[in-house]
Amino acid sequence: MRKLKLIFVLPVLAFLACSEDPVSDEIETGNEPQTQTKTSNQSNTEVAFPDEVGTKEDIYYTGLKLPVENVNGNYVYQGDILIPRSKTSKSPVQLIYEKGKAPHQKSVGRTKAYWPDNTVYYEIDGSLPDKNRVYDAISHWEANTNIQFVKRSGQSNYVYFTPGSGCSSYVGMIGGKQNITLASGCTTGSTIHEIGHAVGLWHEQSRVDRDNHITIHWDNIQSGREYNFETYASAGYDGDEFTTNLDFGSIMLYSPYSFSSNGEPTITRKDGSLYGAQRSGLSSGDIEGVNSMYPSGGDGGSANYINGEYYTIEGLTVLRYMDEWWYDTRFGWRKVKLVNGSWEWA
Ligand SMILES: [Zn+2]
Repeated sequence: MRKLKLIFVLPVLAFLACSEDPVSDEIETGNEPQTQTKTSNQSNTEVAFPDEVGTKEDIYYTGLKLPVENVNGNYVYQGDILIPRSKTSKSPVQLIYEKGKAPHQKSVGRTKAYWPDNTVYYEIDGSLPDKNRVYDAISHWEANTNIQFVKRSGQSNYVYFTPGSGCSSYVGMIGGKQNITLASGCTTGSTIHEIGHAVGLWHEQSRVDRDNHITIHWDNIQSGREYNFETYASAGYDGDEFTTNLDFGSIMLYSPYSFSSNGEPTITRKDGSLYGAQRSGLSSGDIEGVNSMYPSGGDGGSANYINGEYYTIEGLTVLRYMDEWWYDTRFGWRKVKLVNGSWEWA
């Protein structure tokens, strides 16, 4: 159902970062009256490795080509999104398998992107400073959405809150232990943002329709970081969203000065004005999207698929028709089925 779709497609709600850059920037430009806004905005852009610049690589993940930054072997997408390297490939991978071929050879795709039963299991690294950031962020999520967070007791799929050089998270449930890293500068708001990634949200400013609402100032972006501002359409996602407009209140939205090379904004409203990127909590638009993904009383696993609707599942866009799954080959429609996380001809 919709929740599957959104994981892949739904850049509706999107991003945060708490790099150390804002600090140094504040020192350098502290005498300028407008610095206040600038630094506060910058602190609202989460990054995984604020002090390191990796090399740009194109990789394939869930059947899509993504530009990532390789930082010491970690694949980072859009600043703070981690891509599980073991599930990527350097070249396109055929996602449809003939009957009898071993689906486990598939090198891309998630096992399951959503958290079944609206439940996220978690553990907190004993060495993580200020654990209340995590407890407060979890309380905020539970108070505003249908998702519950349960301390892990042996479950194999879980989020692990652990110290790191910056703030970062994977998108959706990737299977197994998945880290959310929180440097000491990552606030409760940044933690809420990173949990947003973990439950399946991408970044708001990468919505397919974002150009109707914001202007990207490419000349102000740090050289080599331009790919952080691509839309999800350019990666091949279908661009479906859970809300109808870009949400300037989303906690998943980059701040106007994200990845600025010159202190000038990289993102403004269409009229050139700035906006405030907030990290205090989920917006009503965030909540609307998340509740579509994880409906009340819902079991994230047993979706109610609608005949005639397209869904993108495990990297493949398939049509639900007559309660069967169909795939549009170049030679016509063929029936397919999902077996252990891989699509096969039915
Ligand atoms: Zn983010």
